[in-house]
Amino acid sequence: MDRTFVMVKPDGVQRGLVGEIVSRLEAKGLKLVAARFEVLPEKRVTEQYKEHLTKLFFPSLKKFIMGGPCFLMVWEGRDVVPIVRTLVGATNPQEAAPGTIRGDFGIDTGRNIIHASDSPESAAREIALHFRPAELSSYTRADESVIYEY
Ligand code: UDP
Ligand code: MG
Repeated sequence: MDRTFVMVKPDGVQRGLVGEIVSRLEAKGLKLVAARFEVLPEKRVTEQYKEHLTKLFFPSLKKFIMGGPCFLMVWEGRDVVPIVRTLVGATNPQEAAPGTIRGDFGIDTGRNIIHASDSPESAAREIALHFRPAELSSYTRADESVIYEY
């Protein structure tokens, strides 16, 4: 099964959206295999967003992400990376479709509630950055046989 890294950012935590977000991913049929609630250290924020290091918005992004606790998760499922990106919606919440997390709850790009890996390669890198292999659980969802066709 595929895995992806998902993180409720400090704005999502402070707005009480952790439960709503976990519910949406669970209801979709995806499987939660790891989770941790923490304020991210600077090193992991820089590593997480290394493709944006030279961007003008990077200093404010870093300050914002480190400004409060995040809820870090690993989710599992077939094609989970693109599926979660679809549920999350466009980076700019003003352009995110209604029904998506950012479309339903956000207004500003710099307060867009949630992070999700953008490719299987990013997912592998981000999962390894934030979690040790032993922190990932293996179990069967009771409804797996009726979620997947094969
Ligand atoms: N971001 C920002 N201003 C911008 C572009 C991005 O504050 O102009 C932040 C925003 O929190 C975004 C994150 O940087 O989610 C990473 O940007 P990316 O383009 O990778 O968007 P994402 O993959 O989160 O949709
Ligand atoms: Mg991204």
